[in-house]
Amino acid sequence: MAITELAELEKIIGLTDDEKAWNPEGPDTLPLLISDEIVNLLSVPAIRRQFVPTVQENEDTEGCADPQEERKHSGTERLVHRYSNRAAFKTTDRCFAYCRHCFRRRFTGHLSGPATEKEIEEAATYVKAHSEIHEVLLTGGDLFTLSDNHIERLLSIFRSICPSVILRLCTRAVAVYPERFTDSLMGIIRKYEDGAPMFLMTQFNHPAELTDKAVEAVAKFVDIGIPAFNQSVLLKGVNDDEKTLIELSDKLLMARIKPYYLFQGDPVRGTAHLRVDIERGLEIEKNIRHELSGLGMPQYTADLPGGGGKVILTHTYLKKKTVKDGKARYIFTTPDGEERSYPD
Ligand SMILES: *Cc1c(COP(=O)(O)O)cnc(C)c1O
Ligand code: SF4
Repeated sequence: MAITELAELEKIIGLTDDEKAWNPEGPDTLPLLISDEIVNLLSVPAIRRQFVPTVQENEDTEGCADPQEERKHSGTERLVHRYSNRAAFKTTDRCFAYCRHCFRRRFTGHLSGPATEKEIEEAATYVKAHSEIHEVLLTGGDLFTLSDNHIERLLSIFRSICPSVILRLCTRAVAVYPERFTDSLMGIIRKYEDGAPMFLMTQFNHPAELTDKAVEAVAKFVDIGIPAFNQSVLLKGVNDDEKTLIELSDKLLMARIKPYYLFQGDPVRGTAHLRVDIERGLEIEKNIRHELSGLGMPQYTADLPGGGGKVILTHTYLKKKTVKDGKARYIFTTPDGEERSYPD
């Protein structure tokens, strides 16, 4: 049974003062919901920090509720069309467990519920009418909280109205509720696999989340030809150290998941205690890049406030351009800190 009350949680793990003092009625807070799979992992401090709320959520009043201004970039009620060639469709506001760092908290868990058939049709029709859109992210909330029937309708509507659009299946359920991926659900996904590719987009933030069951759930997709990519969030006290991130990347690759993004935590109200400052983030990025293969290295990325969009954060190795006798040269620092000059 999933946990929804502090009192139940207290019985299982005993709560700290900060956890007890969390006010579920506070503004901009997310409901408490922890799935069985995660309850079993709460002895790992990095997991507890991601799922057990604390009073710091109530105390942070600085951030804003919707830094991405997703509202402003809405194509339809649930379709965010911020980049010309791709759009995000919010299939539902529900998740199997709520992450305390969720940047969609204005939307997530606040009972707007699953998209209706009409909303799905409107979104697919918008996508069809905007032929510049090549990819649709089926996101949320978590897509897989929808029933099998609902998922089947969703896929069939998108596949019939805009069949040549790539679908990204965005989910944290492989980590937090791996038993969701039953034969019948996988059968439905296979049915709509013809045509444009589908990609599985996971969120694993810590190596402990890659349990055997989670890895098996991802394998169900990869085995049928749906490649898997991971988007993690850089979180203070969870994964803001090189060793953890390197172990996470190694485990992801062994599970045939490509580390794709490492997100800077968005300045959303209620999450300040989980954010890492960008200076430290850049240092981590540099250090792990030195240790990881290109395959294992995620792109450290910030989503700029005011709907500015995503930008890659990286240490720059190109220091300057010099011109001598009409010939240009670029001066670089190597990852080992030496200098090299590169002819134009
Ligand atoms: C992140 C995001 C995408 C996907 O961006 P990629 O860089 O292609 O992964 C699309 N739409 C919205 C609104 C997003 O926030
Ligand atoms: S799974 Fe995603 S949408 Fe749901 S609470 Fe976590 S971060 Fe937010």
